[in-house]
Amino acid sequence: MRKTLNPCPSCGGEGRLAIINSEKAVVVSCHDCGVMARAIEYKDHLSTEDILAAIDAWNDRIGIKEGR
Ligand SMILES: [Zn+2]
Repeated sequence: MRKTLNPCPSCGGEGRLAIINSEKAVVVSCHDCGVMARAIEYKDHLSTEDILAAIDAWNDRIGIKEGR
């Protein structure tokens, strides 16, 4: 199961899925300008649902934050 990441809402760049182990969160951010969608926190281990939620947050521009 694979979902496509929309281009960055800010610069049109490429969204990248990142797993932040220290915060137990997964988030999509822009490789080019650094904007981030809302981070999705996961419980014990990362599930596909969490990844899909992070992708949805990015694609729906939920909580998009400018990187600088
Ligand atoms: Zn960008």
